[in-house]
Amino acid sequence: MPEPMLNLAAWVACTGMEGPGRRFAIWTQGCHLRCKGCCNQSYLPLVPRELVPALHLLPAILEAREQHGIEGITLLGGEPMIQARGLSVLARAVRAHGMTVMMFTGYVLGSDAHALPDGAQDLLAACDVVVDGPFVATRGEQVRNWVGSTNQRFHYLTDAYDVSIETDPRYRNGIEVRFERSGTLRVNGFPFLL
Ligand code: SF4
Repeated sequence: MPEPMLNLAAWVACTGMEGPGRRFAIWTQGCHLRCKGCCNQSYLPLVPRELVPALHLLPAILEAREQHGIEGITLLGGEPMIQARGLSVLARAVRAHGMTVMMFTGYVLGSDAHALPDGAQDLLAACDVVVDGPFVATRGEQVRNWVGSTNQRFHYLTDAYDVSIETDPRYRNGIEVRFERSGTLRVNGFPFLL
C-alpha cells in the first residue's frame, strides 16, 4: 500500500507550549468544523498547503529528540482527524521510537463512532492522550492547561500521562515567539494570552 500523504500547515521542532514536556508540534491544514472564535483561521481552508508523505517528518522528529530531548509529538490543526490515515502512520512510527503522541481534535469522542472520519480509530489507537471537542467561545477555560473551553475533555488512552498534567504548574499556559531563518515570525502556545 502506498504511503499516505499529509497536508501540513506548520510544524515546530521543539515547543514547551503544546502539551507535557518538550514536544514536536505539527499543525495540519484544513478544518470544516469552523468554531466561532477559532484562533487558527489560516489553518482552516481545505486547500493543499504542504503535501508530504506521512513519514516525511520522522527524521526531523528523531533529530529533535537528539537535539532537544523532546518526549513526543503533538498533533493540532486545522483538524488532525480528517488526515487520520496519514497521521496514524506517523504516530505509530513515533511511538515505535519510544515517544508519546498527543492530539487535539474538534470531534467529540464516544458520541457517535460512525461520525468519525475514515481511519480515526487507527489514529486514536496510536495516541497516548487526546483532547476532544470544539472550541466554545462562551465557555472559556480558566483552570486546565492547553484547552480553550471547558467542554473540551482529556482522554488518557495509555498510561503515559494522567489527569495531573491538566493542572501541573510546570506546564502553565504561555506563548512562544520565534523568528525563523526564512524570515517567518511564528507564534504558538495559548492564543488567549496574546
Ligand atoms: S476544531 Fe479547532 S481548528 Fe477547527 S475550527 Fe474548531 S478550534 Fe478551529
